[in-house]
Amino acid sequence: MVVLGVESTAHTASVGITDDRAQVLGLASDMYRPPSGGIHPREAANHHVEVLPGLVEKALAAASVRPNELDAVAFAQGPGLGPCLRAGATVARMLSLAWRRPLVPVNHCVAHVEIARALSGLDDPLLLYASGGNTQVIAYGRGRYRVLGETLDIGIGNFLDKLWIGLGGTFPGGPALEAEARLGTELLPLPYSVHGMDVAFSGMLTATLALRAKGVARPDLAYSVETTAYAMLTEITERAIAHRRKSSVALGGGVACNERLRGMVRTMAEGRGATMFAPPRSLCVDNGAMIAWAGGLAHARGRSVPVERSAVEPRQRTDRVLTPWREPPGPGTAR
Ligand code: AMP
Ligand code: MG
Repeated sequence: MVVLGVESTAHTASVGITDDRAQVLGLASDMYRPPSGGIHPREAANHHVEVLPGLVEKALAAASVRPNELDAVAFAQGPGLGPCLRAGATVARMLSLAWRRPLVPVNHCVAHVEIARALSGLDDPLLLYASGGNTQVIAYGRGRYRVLGETLDIGIGNFLDKLWIGLGGTFPGGPALEAEARLGTELLPLPYSVHGMDVAFSGMLTATLALRAKGVARPDLAYSVETTAYAMLTEITERAIAHRRKSSVALGGGVACNERLRGMVRTMAEGRGATMFAPPRSLCVDNGAMIAWAGGLAHARGRSVPVERSAVEPRQRTDRVLTPWREPPGPGTAR
């Protein structure tokens, strides 16, 4: 099954093509970078409308695939920013109609999970999904992915981005903060906000900016923020592994590019006799290939929608989406 996937939930417009072994045949992405401040949904959507047609051509050329060789066109239905989602969905609908290919809606978070699972070769890992807008610890159970823990306020990536902009930098903050943190030496006390299986970041954001206003060096702040925030994620991941008796954990989302986070989760997992897997960076960040792959899984189970029933769902939750490809439905399967 060869599927083309369109991703446009936030700052990244991307088109990917995958085959039935999760091989990425073609992938073309273009990220909206605001000149200053954070992401403005309408401006990001305008960017996506402009670049997506070219990305479709690039992905097809890279894959050496013709439209009539595609089995389906998939798109990210949610969660995400409404205007951005609509830009990608509009392009996907047009392609579906023009090429007469089935249209398959995909949950963006489930796509992160499924590409990590496919690339890892792990059958049933726990997943730490750490991205710009989302931060969730996820495990499969009875017909869908269950959110065991998540952020109570902002996503870890949004936290890093806001912090970096507050420290005088530009979007995206995560990679720049990672470089800055390597120069830090002093570990400053910051609010460590774990509530059962959930985390929160806005207290740390306020506290860090207050320390900066008092003249604390930026590298030490970056180092302390990474240490504290990633320890919080590692703690809830460890608790989930223990409760669910998992033998593996896979990472996904843009923040999973971070070496420090990868190292901390790996050390924790190995200490428990579990394995850890993180996809290559190009497939951790938002990308069309994961949408194509998850769309293929759904389409293989007969999933497609007519254009008039393909509305985007900016608040679509991971645990609302059925994943029939994971297991045959049996007694007790959630509906
Ligand atoms: P996504 O929403 O999954 O595309 O991920 C984008 C988010 O990942 C942004 O908030 C980035 O700041 C963050 N990010 C990307 N690379 C890194 C990194 N090396 N360390 C921490 N955060 C990162
Ligand atoms: Mg994402």
